Amino acid sequence: MGPPGAGKGTQAQFICREHNIPQISTGDMLRNAIAEGTTLGLRAKAIMERGELVSDDVILELVRERLRQPDCVAGCLFDGFPRTVGQADGMRELDISVDVVVELQISDSLIIRRISGRRVHEASGRVYHIEFNPPKVDNVDDVTWQPLVQRHDDSETVVRARVEVYREQTAPLIEYYKRSGVKYYEIDGEATVNEIRQNISDLLKTADT
Ligand code: ADP
Ligand code: ADP
Repeated sequence: MGPPGAGKGTQAQFICREHNIPQISTGDMLRNAIAEGTTLGLRAKAIMERGELVSDDVILELVRERLRQPDCVAGCLFDGFPRTVGQADGMRELDISVDVVVELQISDSLIIRRISGRRVHEASGRVYHIEFNPPKVDNVDDVTWQPLVQRHDDSETVVRARVEVYREQTAPLIEYYKRSGVKYYEIDGEATVNEIRQNISDLLKTADT
């Protein structure tokens, strides 16, 4: 968990590699649906461009379908899901149990800097930052050499709306999970990528899951 720009996607990739589990990023799944021009994608596009949330029903159906794939049998990592109490309740109804929650904490001023410098390789979801995590060659993906793009919803106005949405609709999940008895870890999201990576790796070892 964490606001936009907290580093969820960046750290999710490391955790998934270390624990050999798939990364289930509802944001990436929605962007793929838009790229493929599916009905769901067409519906989600305008909502995402305003920085609002796609409905709980749509998201839960997307996740339910994804979890039927065989790579999820040994568990998975959710990145950017659940984002509302309704989604967390929906997970319980689907018997999806949560072992560990990792919350990345960062200040509002850093959110804007992180997001305005974010560049992505659309096909793979690989994430860079022009200042903090630049690609080897400006504006080009390190692996495929294809161009990087800025997400449509990464403009400053939309990011401010997304931060509001996070505070109002997603932040209540912090108390929700703290009260539920799952292992809940708060991580300083303002440290370097490698420091955070190490902190999470150490915590997950002690979590013994
Ligand atoms: P989220 O998935 O939470 O929205 P990302 O992982 O996409 O966040 O990170 C947002 C931006 O900040 C990206 O450009 C990424 O390269 C950069 N970034 C991520 N973690 C750090 C960090 N610890 N320090 C500096 N920049 C970071
Ligand atoms: P970030 O990590 O920068 O917050 P994401 O890629 O996770 O962004 O999400 C981008 C957008 O996709 C959100 O602003 C929202 O419109 C939509 N979205 C992603 N995940 C969810 C979700 N679990 N519930 C509702 N909307 C979602």
